[in-house]
Amino acid sequence: MARRKHAEIAGAGFAGLVAAIALAQRGWTVRVHEIGPELRAFGAGIFIWENGLRVLKAIGAYEAVIGGAHEAMVYETRRGDRPIAEVPFTAARGTRMLTMTRQHLYASILAVAQNAGIDFVTNSEIVGATAEGELLTREGRSFRADLVVGADGVKSKTRDSFNLLRERSACADGIVRVLTPRCRNELGAGNWDRVIDFWSASHPGLRVLYVPCNAEALYLAMMAPVRDPEASAIPLRQDIWISAFPALEPVIRQVSADGRYDAYETTRLSRWSVGRVAIVGDAAHAMVPTLGQGAGTAMMNALALAVAVEEAPGTEAALAAWERRARPLTEYTQDRSEHAARERLFEKGEGWGPENLRTARHIPTGTEHLPSPLD
Ligand code: FAD
Repeated sequence: MARRKHAEIAGAGFAGLVAAIALAQRGWTVRVHEIGPELRAFGAGIFIWENGLRVLKAIGAYEAVIGGAHEAMVYETRRGDRPIAEVPFTAARGTRMLTMTRQHLYASILAVAQNAGIDFVTNSEIVGATAEGELLTREGRSFRADLVVGADGVKSKTRDSFNLLRERSACADGIVRVLTPRCRNELGAGNWDRVIDFWSASHPGLRVLYVPCNAEALYLAMMAPVRDPEASAIPLRQDIWISAFPALEPVIRQVSADGRYDAYETTRLSRWSVGRVAIVGDAAHAMVPTLGQGAGTAMMNALALAVAVEEAPGTEAALAAWERRARPLTEYTQDRSEHAARERLFEKGEGWGPENLRTARHIPTGTEHLPSPLD
């Protein structure tokens, strides 16, 4: 009987989990190292578009994910109290807009991974890898594999052990992300099942993305320029945010004192692989979150990686083919995300043109056999 191939993966985020599942489904044995003490998601809410949903369907997590997610049919933009744009999102338009808590998305994918027999090691800090296919831990251990996957996020040690970082650019904005109760009654009349993109008329540069996640939970993404220390302060300056967004006072009052202000960046590598090591997800291609495609792209590329190593006989050739196939759309998505942020397209209600929806409508590698739109 042929020996089963083995993968060692650094990082149990969305990229690491999807790569692990997709490889296990192709007959590989897989071990995932996670630096944290437990397997869980960080952050508040998340958008998943049609491309990400197709990946979830391919790995068997789709039904669980949509069961606890919210489908908002309209993305509305308001400046002050004035609506300036409404964009419908439906399967018939080529993409749905599903929103959910990060923990729900993570738990749904993790359940599939645990059923697939993947070995998880928590409190396992990866400090590097070798081109020959070894993953190295802080404790001095080395794990050998046919394929090593660096899915250890934007500060990836796997990546940095090969000096692959070519470009790292910071964005002028950052975001405080929180989950609060929906407070429908307190918000008063209006369609509060939509995603609503509020831009302040009185405080230029401040934005609140109002995102229902399910019947109870609301995700608020509160964007403020890095150069505005008061609006980006934690604990949140409720007085500033309520005066900028009076219509949202009931939900802003619910925001607890903790939370984080995250600035974000775009990263590009000279190449996505060295020898038997592939770098995927934010470790390889972090992007400005304007189009809500960082995790979607990470999951697409993780699935495509498993397809590539299944199709090509040698790991190095497979990784080169994978990068050739996946990188152009990834860089396009990074560019469009940066462009939309720089040109303030969403503030003008012009964010969802066809160029910016191209990634959402893309049929990811490994999902071609699925119906379009999904059932
Ligand atoms: P991560 O989620 O960072 O996972 C990396 C994992 O590796 C973590 O579990 C970490 O603990 C572990 N790790 C790190 N270092 C080590 C180590 N040395 N050893 C072992 N383990 C390690 N994307 C969307 O698709 N939709 C959205 O709506 C969206 N909104 C966003 C909003 C904001 C404000 C931001 C900043 C990002 C947003 N994104 C969104 C992007 C998305 O969060 C990321 O692209 C995605 O989480 C990347 O997944 P990943 O698995 O590559 O990395």
